[in-house]
Amino acid sequence: MKYLFVCAHPDDLEFSCGNLLYYLTQHGKEVAILSLSRGEFGIFEPIWKGPRLAKIRSQELKRASKINGIEKKHVHFGGIIDGFIRFTKENVNLVITWINKLNPDIIFAPEPYFTYYWHEDHISTGKILYYISTKLQNRLNNKIRSLYYYTTAKGNFSWPFNSAEHSFKALYEHKSQMWLLKWAKLFYPLEKHNFKKQKLGNWKMVEIYRRVSFYGKQPKANTIVRGILGLISQLNIINPPDSHFILPDMKTEFGQKVKKLRARYKFKD
Ligand SMILES: [Zn+2]
Repeated sequence: MKYLFVCAHPDDLEFSCGNLLYYLTQHGKEVAILSLSRGEFGIFEPIWKGPRLAKIRSQELKRASKINGIEKKHVHFGGIIDGFIRFTKENVNLVITWINKLNPDIIFAPEPYFTYYWHEDHISTGKILYYISTKLQNRLNNKIRSLYYYTTAKGNFSWPFNSAEHSFKALYEHKSQMWLLKWAKLFYPLEKHNFKKQKLGNWKMVEIYRRVSFYGKQPKANTIVRGILGLISQLNIINPPDSHFILPDMKTEFGQKVKKLRARYKFKD
């Protein structure tokens, strides 16, 4: 059984799936990671944005993955620029190419429909994986057996653990993200607190996932639920992409690329 964890940015998995990842690799499972972007925008100073930060953050993901038991040859990057992951035909095809290269049986991706983390890159990543799993399995060499979503507010599968020590160890390899991660000590135990003690047993913390059904109608959050989730997302200090408003040096090659993407997706200047 092969597992593929798909994320939008290099630090997403350490926030949400670190304990499950570590368990799988320690029990001899084949696990690969596909980060669709290299997090080129994840810092505020314009001079760092682009290839320079991409290189740093790719290394950070490889180091964090090593702590989770994944060798760097199993850490892959999709090549989409941070902030511009959209649910497009082009990106669907790109992800299909990756899936056919890696042949996973089970895929993990960010929740797009019941998420409390409304970052467009995350939502689009989740939608791409849902679309491929439900509509385009005929284009895959190896059928996807299950799709699980993380950062979900509608979990149906829980992975319990007792200490955040391992998670923090992997998370803090993302040194360029310390402006954000300094809050992790505060919100990580809150987010992962096992509120359903009676149901799950006496575990302190839990990673929540939603196993997606490939049959029938996909449940979608109604207006009230969306409103509440949106509000939580707004309150959430980890909801950029504010950093995208500070643009890189537009004279550089990267800046030119970003300029084109901003025009294509109708970003306001
Ligand atoms: Zn992210």
